[in-house]
Amino acid sequence: MSRTPTVLDGPALWPAQAHLPSVLGRQIVIDRAAGSYLHTVDGRRLFDGTAGLWYANIGHGHPALAEAAREQMLRLETYHVFSRFVNDQAIALGERLAGLSPIADPKVILNSGGSDAIDVACKLARRHWQREGRPGKTVVISREHAYHGLHAFGTSIAGIEVNREGYGTESLVPETVRVPVHDVDALAKTIAELGADTIAAFVTEPVQGTGGVNPPAPGYLEAVQELCRDNDILFVLDEVITGFGRTGTMFAAERYGLQPDLVTFAKGVTSGYAPLGGVLVAPRIWEPFYADGADTPAFRYGATYSGHATACAVAQANLDVLERDGLVARAAELEQLLDTRLAQLAANRPSVAEVRVGGFLGGVTVVDEIRAEDVTDALLDLGFVSRPLRGNNLQISPPFITTDDELVAFVDAIDHVLAEQERG
Ligand code: PMP
Repeated sequence: MSRTPTVLDGPALWPAQAHLPSVLGRQIVIDRAAGSYLHTVDGRRLFDGTAGLWYANIGHGHPALAEAAREQMLRLETYHVFSRFVNDQAIALGERLAGLSPIADPKVILNSGGSDAIDVACKLARRHWQREGRPGKTVVISREHAYHGLHAFGTSIAGIEVNREGYGTESLVPETVRVPVHDVDALAKTIAELGADTIAAFVTEPVQGTGGVNPPAPGYLEAVQELCRDNDILFVLDEVITGFGRTGTMFAAERYGLQPDLVTFAKGVTSGYAPLGGVLVAPRIWEPFYADGADTPAFRYGATYSGHATACAVAQANLDVLERDGLVARAAELEQLLDTRLAQLAANRPSVAEVRVGGFLGGVTVVDEIRAEDVTDALLDLGFVSRPLRGNNLQISPPFITTDDELVAFVDAIDHVLAEQERG
């Protein structure tokens, strides 16, 4: 008996984050990519208007990174960094990142991505207070609409509700609390209610990404940093998206004049050419673990691929490109153009409820009558990749190598699609 094909006939690979009946049979299979363009297995060419998941900052297919990976693999693919062992590439990258860090004199923890980095940062925050003799300081506060990856800590501190629900407990990791996005007073009230002696850390993205591209309200980050300082709460900046140039400075901490205690990074450190992430750690946190003596505590972080030598070599090549080609300054220029063009879009199109720009990162909120998913589908048909984000938003975050003309063409395509959708 013949059977009608169903979603069960999809490939063995389980797609990430997906409502499967909505994507199976409609997957866009990417075969190769060069610069800002993706090529699908069925021969289509697409402008990568999101830089993948906000990572392909130097663009795709850069030969210098491929060469760095090849050379490193032939010399030493990797050697782990547990206990007395380490590899020269991990040491070298640590030095370079320490030099770029917005935290003075940091130590650098390396692992495989943003979720890893968040897990380590939250554990280190709790470990810090325990070692200080204040074991009651365990609560991790984050913001509504936040995205911090999907490991246990990232899931628990998620501000995007759907990412936290369905695991049979209030929270995978206990003692996690969320506060409204731009509201300093709400954080102050939460601290007062819970008591500062129960709180380990406040974690925030400088510019919220997956939550819909929400740049900070003026003065917000500075004010929450001060609140954290005053209450002995570690201030953790999640720079997984913003790190390595996205906001026109190497880290968003510089742009907003912040001195965080911990900074998480991933994506832009390799522009996605190898899985790598990590945490920059301030001296007051690392110093006790580096003290001489039998009583010195250990922080038990680490995974097989922490400090992976090939990933580190690729990161070095990526940073070379970023610096040599002036791409951080270019991201700042592109932000200006994006700002101008999105303001025009908002003025032209009644279906645009709001636009926001924070760095070379844009969010376009469309009115309820139009679905962001339909807009991104129509954009794909025109050869442009955007992505629907929480809150009926479109993501705009192309590679830093994007030309002015390409960016204008992308925003024009959004204008065109919205005009069509307005006609119904
Ligand atoms: N933090 C932020 C701010 C992110 O945007 C992401 C990923 N989009 C993560 C953490 C998790 O990173 P990864 O997917 O590499 O685990």
